[in-house]
Parts: sequence; structure tokens; C-alpha cells
Amino acid sequence: MAIPTLFDVQHKCGHTQEHNLADKAAGERAGFTAWLAQQPCTDCWKKRQDRKVSKEVQTERAALEEQALEDQERSELPILAGSAKQTSWALRVRYELLRDAYTSLVEEGALDEDSFESDVLVPARRVAAARWWIDNRDNGAMIVEILADPGQIEVGETNENPY
Ligand SMILES: [Zn+2]
Repeated sequence: MAIPTLFDVQHKCGHTQEHNLADKAAGERAGFTAWLAQQPCTDCWKKRQDRKVSKEVQTERAALEEQALEDQERSELPILAGSAKQTSWALRVRYELLRDAYTSLVEEGALDEDSFESDVLVPARRVAAARWWIDNRDNGAMIVEILADPGQIEVGETNENPY
């Protein structure tokens, strides 16, 4: 008779999952099934991994936000206007855009500190709308051009429905 290779395992999370143990030796399947029962099911295991990852991402974001706040003060940048979610995101976006601009224009480029101040920081201080920074998050390569002609931005303007 055929030896069964499909086993319903009741996992410790309470879910039952079918496992194909065809690649296990027949004599090892009972032991492996018992071991599986002590583990969470595949879905629960994945969810747990996702939560771990998102916690790491959150820690990274918090660290970046802290640096961004320090830079906001140091570079005399305005406190961003928008919803809480927008301002937190835009703070990180602005920080990275300006930091990358400094690296490419001054450290690796021909721009001097004074020109960076007048071409990048001075116009950046006029843009307090979180939305603008978020919209331009991928425009790092033309930061000087877009800051020179930022469009209509009023402080506090947001496309998000306040209701
Ligand atoms: Zn489960």
C-alpha cells in the first residue's frame, strides 16, 4: 500500500495546515510532524516576520527623523505644514534631498558653500508645504531648478481632504 505523504498538522497557533512530507524519509515523517506541531503555521510565521521587518523600518525612520529635525534647526528650515503623516514623511524626504544635493553639488561638484546657501537653502526655506517635498521626492537631480521655480505653494496648503 502507498505510504501517506500528506499530513494535516495542528500547529501551536491553533491553525491546521496540510504538509507534503514526500521529501522526508518515511521513517522520519512522524518525528518531523511532531516538530512541525510545535511551530506556528506558515501564515502565522510569515506575519511574525513581517512585523519584525516593519519594526526595523520604524526604528530606521525614527532615527532619520531625528537627524532631519536637527538639520531643520541647523539649516533654519521651516517646520513643515500638512497632516501629521505628511509632515513626518516630508521631513525625511526634505532632509534626504538636501543632504544628497549637498553631497553631489558641493562635496562632489563645483558649487561652493555660499552658492549652496543661496541656490538651495534659501529657496528651500520658502517651501513649508509638506506636500511639495513629497511630490518632488524623486527630483533630487534637478533640486536647484525646481527650487528656483517651485510653483504656487502656500504654507499650509494640502491636497488632502481635511474631512
Ligand atoms: Zn497559524
